[in-house]
Amino acid sequence: MPEGHSVHRLAKQFTSVFSGQRLAVSSPQGRFAAGAEQLDGATLLSALAHGKQMFLRFDNDRVLRVHLGLYGAWSFGGDATFRGASSIGAPRRVGESEAPSESGPPVYAGPPAPVGAVRVRLVSDHGWADLRGPTACEVITTAEEKLARAKLGPDPLQPRSDGSAFVAKIMASITPVGIQLMNQAVIAGIGNIYRAEVLFLQGINPRRPGKLLREDEARAIWSETVRLMKDGVREGRIITTTPEARNGRPKRSAPNYVYKRTGEPCRRCGTAILSDDMAARTVYWCPSCQAD
Ligand SMILES: [Zn+2]
Repeated sequence: MPEGHSVHRLAKQFTSVFSGQRLAVSSPQGRFAAGAEQLDGATLLSALAHGKQMFLRFDNDRVLRVHLGLYGAWSFGGDATFRGASSIGAPRRVGESEAPSESGPPVYAGPPAPVGAVRVRLVSDHGWADLRGPTACEVITTAEEKLARAKLGPDPLQPRSDGSAFVAKIMASITPVGIQLMNQAVIAGIGNIYRAEVLFLQGINPRRPGKLLREDEARAIWSETVRLMKDGVREGRIITTTPEARNGRPKRSAPNYVYKRTGEPCRRCGTAILSDDMAARTVYWCPSCQAD
């Protein structure tokens, strides 16, 4: 499942290729036909990511709310001007035809015929985006967007995000921090990789009850998460290790400290990494660096 950093990259992509543009919206698969009808011909005002959800706001008081879940994905394509701020689903120049003569660039011939179960297709004069397999895809009003976002905890990647709200919430509950970090009402956007890596970097055992965190520890979890997720937006993938911890190896061969490293030696102390189920996903930790 994409963690918050990739949803933020997607929102940037939508903003840079579609905002201010009138969009043709359809549901080639048919399952979203009624929703698409409400958006067809409207102009996209902005795209906002909050945690793992994206809100595409249109000029007719309608908002497309999308949660990709485990299997959802966007794909993009378009002409030479259709370039995103991020590289997510970087336009593959699909849909271009050969130029009729040898002079001049290729001509954009519009989107190709949809392939597979395309729930939503957005088309501008310059490009298109196809959504497949989302967990949630619905048209709501701006008032409903407010309600949906009020249920979510603060998002570490949003500009004036409220870390104090996170600190108060996580410290108020006896629930283990490893479970609370996966609760989108406590903090929005963290997934399984960030949960494991942030707790390792802060030396906190995932089983520690929230009530047993000191305030400075809770604040440090927040600021570490902000730092790592901003790196994720910039890099386009989750890299938490330092060059020293990678010991000369490339980022891709040693991207994380504990995530998916059960039984392997801790990069700091050599102790074998442990794992267990927590909040329906496997959590990983070093029993020595994260003793309690
Ligand atoms: Zn260790």
